[in-house]
Amino acid sequence: MPELPPMRPHPGAGVVRFPCALGCGWKHTEDPCADDIDTISLPLSASTEEISRIFGERSERRAAALRERVESAVRGHFADAHVGQEPPERAVW
Ligand SMILES: [Zn+2]
Repeated sequence: MPELPPMRPHPGAGVVRFPCALGCGWKHTEDPCADDIDTISLPLSASTEEISRIFGERSERRAAALRERVESAVRGHFADAHVGQEPPERAVW
């Protein structure tokens, strides 16, 4: 489960942390705005449905990339710090 970031002007504002499920103190850090640099290209003739689809597909790509980064970091952490243990699984809706 991620730790939601504190509000500004806290120095840790905007950064989401994913702590180790075993409570060892390790955390993976994500800045939700850091990778939001992809160009968005919309045809001038795009309908509302097309615009919605383009943004929806972009959002799904970013969510999949985020999930892959977090899962990869957690697997790497367990391989380094908790050898022989599997990260606990959690249902995601
Ligand atoms: Zn740990």
